[in-house]
Amino acid sequence: MSTSPVRTRIAPSPTGDPHVGTAYQALLNHAYAKKHGGAFILRIEDTDQARSTRASEVAILGSLRWLGLGWDEGPDIGGPFAPYRQSERVEACREVAERLLSEGKAYRDFGEDGGGAYAIRLHTPDTGRIALPDQLRQGLSKDWESVDDPVLLKSDGFPTYHLANVVDDHLMEITDVIRGEEWIASLPKHLLLYETLGWEPPSFWHVPLLRNKDKNRTKLSKRKSPTSIDFYRQAGFLPEALLNFLGMLAWTRAEGEEKFTLDAFVEHFELGSLSLAGAVFDTEKLAWLNGRYLREDYGPAELAGLLRNWRFDDDTLTAAAGLAQPRMRTLGDFGPLASPFFTDETPCDPEALAGGLERSEVAEWLLLAEWALEDIPEFTADAVHQALRALSESLEVKLRKFTRPLYVALSGSASSTPLFGSMVLLGSAMTRMRLRRARVALGGVPRRREKELAARRTGR
Ligand code: GLU
Repeated sequence: MSTSPVRTRIAPSPTGDPHVGTAYQALLNHAYAKKHGGAFILRIEDTDQARSTRASEVAILGSLRWLGLGWDEGPDIGGPFAPYRQSERVEACREVAERLLSEGKAYRDFGEDGGGAYAIRLHTPDTGRIALPDQLRQGLSKDWESVDDPVLLKSDGFPTYHLANVVDDHLMEITDVIRGEEWIASLPKHLLLYETLGWEPPSFWHVPLLRNKDKNRTKLSKRKSPTSIDFYRQAGFLPEALLNFLGMLAWTRAEGEEKFTLDAFVEHFELGSLSLAGAVFDTEKLAWLNGRYLREDYGPAELAGLLRNWRFDDDTLTAAAGLAQPRMRTLGDFGPLASPFFTDETPCDPEALAGGLERSEVAEWLLLAEWALEDIPEFTADAVHQALRALSESLEVKLRKFTRPLYVALSGSASSTPLFGSMVLLGSAMTRMRLRRARVALGGVPRRREKELAARRTGR
């Protein structure tokens, strides 16, 4: 085991909304590093060129910063082990792959393609068993027979996650890899890479995943509850409450008090005693805890300050006023017209949503709209307009007819503020959450049908 100073990292892939699971991993990595006087590193794993976006990276950094989880080295602040963006270290990965190739430990795979392009794969043993050391579990192992030879370098010259992850962790001198348990499956490949390259592997801690509060305690998914940190921010949760809640998922205080600070968590939490059962992400409990912060830590004047920071700032009020203006007769009309911008719960009546149309069809529209909005890199009124128009055209439904249920989903009423601007003011995460809630209120889209639609979406 290494005696060097502790260095931990999170390595999110910038391929979507900043996920609460990423924040949970960040909290554990941050706490472990701080407790041992070490460094916590943020690295962006963006070798999946097709799916990675800079907007997602910016959102991930912003939401972690909002939560108050600082890092000591990262793509924004640099550090002694730069670069902190994986795509900027591709050369080092290529060299490693070439080296393994020349040593006969890896081989070229021309796949289906006779044209000369090839991937580089690592030779894995055909027989035997590999022990998988994990700080949270005893006795894990795997038969080599069931492990494919991993691709290290794809035929486009880009490293895969396996190679880039190991090369980065090694070059950044990471001592402890604390990550979700879904990566246990990759561990044989990673360990073999370390061994083949003659590098000392870090210690591995595979942390149980967050779970939905459903019967089977399934893996936390946005089908069941919002997973985007931005959603919680836009809905008016306090960063310290969300962070405290994530801490509660990992640590039960002996004294039973559930409200605690990050400092207390860092001081008392022992990663080694983390329960393997998997923590349930219970949004009711989060709301309860958030309420305690609002009542116990803030006087009315400070609360007013929080509200101003949240949505009652000049920019938001101006934007809301602009959207409400065409329908206002008195200043007092502003309240009901603008109320959807200042709440996280709008009325969600299936009858009003369907407006006489087939409920299942409207539910599908809402799902497709949610996906279309998710794909927008920069969430502006024009981009929203274009995306929804393109969608309504592909469905051969008039835009007005198509957007009517969207109005209701967003505000509870079909006669409300202009749709595209309202979506932008609410933000992408909150908008999609409302579409999702409306879809559920309409009875949802059957799983099989959703898969069909999803296949068409990626086939586009
Ligand atoms: N890029 C991986 C992810 O998005 C990182 C996994 C790891 O921590 O090794 O979760």
